[in-house]
Amino acid sequence: MSKKPPTPKVTLVGAGPGDPELLTLKAVKAIQAASVLLVDDLVHPDVLQHASPQARIIHVGKRGGCRSTPQAFIEKLMAHEAFAGENVVRLKGGDPLIFGRAGEEQAHLQAQGIQVEVVNGITAGLAAAQNLGIALTHRAHAHGVIMITGHASPAHSSPQMPAVDWAQIARTAHDSRLTLVIYMGVQSAGQLQQCLLQGLPPDTPLAVVENASLPSRRHVCTQLSQLGRVFAQEKLTSPAVIIVGDVLLGLQNLSAAGDQAAVQGG
Ligand code: SAH
Repeated sequence: MSKKPPTPKVTLVGAGPGDPELLTLKAVKAIQAASVLLVDDLVHPDVLQHASPQARIIHVGKRGGCRSTPQAFIEKLMAHEAFAGENVVRLKGGDPLIFGRAGEEQAHLQAQGIQVEVVNGITAGLAAAQNLGIALTHRAHAHGVIMITGHASPAHSSPQMPAVDWAQIARTAHDSRLTLVIYMGVQSAGQLQQCLLQGLPPDTPLAVVENASLPSRRHVCTQLSQLGRVFAQEKLTSPAVIIVGDVLLGLQNLSAAGDQAAVQGG
């Protein structure tokens, strides 16, 4: 009797925010066991040191604005390799389930009978808060956190997924004392400022952390009214997380309107 082939499987692994030491043990084990790795571009190259020398490494980066591997192609490739009996690992920056499209990939693969395992990673917003030395949920200032994408604009809306009502988000953050952690907000920083000012005071503390957890990290602490100016002036680039809320009070260099916001490195 022939042996039943193993069920095809894909593991979606969070590679953390950048610093390769922030990988989980589970992630390391999954990477070591992989025969095919599909790697996103926010994954630190050193993470691949855990891979077997025999493993096939395929870079499928798709940074906003750059040429990228289409999502449908990535999903097809994963399924193809899994059906060919490969141990497929998809490495994603941060946590695969936070703005990582792991939900879509999981559904797509499972629909084809492929088993999917997800390994958590540390999401960028948490690393950014650690870098600033703040607690996102400091109980003197916040009841919780909203993680939100700055891409959630009318341009990205659909009948099923209407655009974010930023004025409402800002009012809720203000009235219910919630910290905002904004991902993918670099391109729309100026617009975000205008939208958030509809519900939050201009002097609301705000910080931007670029390259969180990496030696190249930089951060700026300022106020909401300065967000657009600070982005332009300091040439802050992706990847960066924007944190808004009173949990930032007490950080040095929270500049008053018009003051120079200070950029600080690693
Ligand atoms: N799944 C990832 C998020 C992917 S969306 C996670 O959990 O972290 C990509 C966005 O994540 C970027 O636009 C940026 O806002 C944020 N990001 C990822 N890595 C970052 C880093 N090292 N520093 C700051 N922001 C980062």
